[in-house]
Amino acid sequence: MIKVENFDLTPLNTFRMKARCACFVEYGSVAELEAMDWDSLPKPIRHIGEGSNLLLTGDFRGTILHSGIKTIKYLDMGLGDVPVMVGSGVHWDDFVEQVCGYGLWGAENLSLIPGETGAAAVQNIGAYGVEIGDIISGVTCYDLHARKRVKFSREECGYGYRDSFFKQTGGRFIVTGVLIRLSRIPRMRLEYKGLKEIFADKAPAGPMDVRRAVIDIRRSKLPDPAELGSAGSFFKNPVVSAADFARIIDISKRDFGEDVHIPHFVQPDGCIKVPAAWMIERCGLKGAVQGGAAVYEKQPLVIVNASGSASADDVLALEQRVIDAVRDRFGVTLSPEVEHLG
Ligand SMILES: Cc1cc2nc3c(=O)[nH]c(=O)nc-3n(C[C@H](O)[C@H](O)[C@H](O)COP(=O)(O)OP(=O)(O)OC[C@H]3O[C@@H](n4cnc5c(N)ncnc54)[C@H](O)[C@@H]3O)c2cc1C
Repeated sequence: MIKVENFDLTPLNTFRMKARCACFVEYGSVAELEAMDWDSLPKPIRHIGEGSNLLLTGDFRGTILHSGIKTIKYLDMGLGDVPVMVGSGVHWDDFVEQVCGYGLWGAENLSLIPGETGAAAVQNIGAYGVEIGDIISGVTCYDLHARKRVKFSREECGYGYRDSFFKQTGGRFIVTGVLIRLSRIPRMRLEYKGLKEIFADKAPAGPMDVRRAVIDIRRSKLPDPAELGSAGSFFKNPVVSAADFARIIDISKRDFGEDVHIPHFVQPDGCIKVPAAWMIERCGLKGAVQGGAAVYEKQPLVIVNASGSASADDVLALEQRVIDAVRDRFGVTLSPEVEHLG
């Protein structure tokens, strides 16, 4: 176990916000969590991964926990399904690269998403038509209230769009391991625009082909956290009622002409998901600058630390500018996907 007081969190958030916490604890096993003297730690207690979905808005007066559980156990290397128990501290993309290399299907569409496996199960990360909830069989946790180990089945995890049961419980459950079910039998998900075009003439020979295609597409659109600070998509894509969507169509025709095309995705319940990026761009905010922060030119859903020294106030002001502009034009209130912590 590593315990450091007055710890610098700057390298532990991909936005590269400058912030410190009163205490930082990295544990290497569930046994270390069980042996922890919880009462002596500064409160509140929060868990982070690689800080790739966080905006640190200031110093944190409590304790930041971090997982150092980095084991990957293949439970059955049979001919069909392959269950794998992945430690919460495993960098998610290292795992995806490894299983694609073994020819196992299921995780390839989720290539190159930053962050750790524990956080991925909390966030229900998703990309190119797949969510991690689709391939999770169960999650093992340490319950900070009851101070004991607990297990959740996939159903109990309550997965939804970038949502899970864990997000509703105020940090009560520390994810320690994620049981992922992969397959030797191809389970291709290539319907998403971009992938569909790449594999239109020739099916992928294996999951590594899909991984490479996903990486190429992502690199062309998204900032590399090693080069440009961000927390990925800053806003959630709003899901609106059919009546609200009809109103958005009217507004768009009035403002952008009768031929305007509004990208949208009809949900199983009849509601409609509208890409926030489209709305932000139509508000003229692509590339908008606020202090050291900016709306990313290649993907307006992303706010970047353009100067390298943007403050949390710059990002918060830009966030509010975007929310106000989209609400004023389309009557839709965007909510941030990025969590604010400070
Ligand atoms: C360039 C870029 C691209 C991105 N692309 C995508 C994408 O395509 N799809 C997508 O879904 N996301 C994407 N993201 C967002 C981000 O990568 C995911 O949300 C990721 O799962 C966050 O992982 P993390 O380890 O950084 O977690 P953090 O940001 O540190 O934490 C996220 C949440 O998980 C909680 N948490 C972390 N670890 C644990 C644990 N062990 N137990 C309990 N709670 C925990 C934290 O308290 C917090 O609530 C992107 C981000 C960036 C910077």
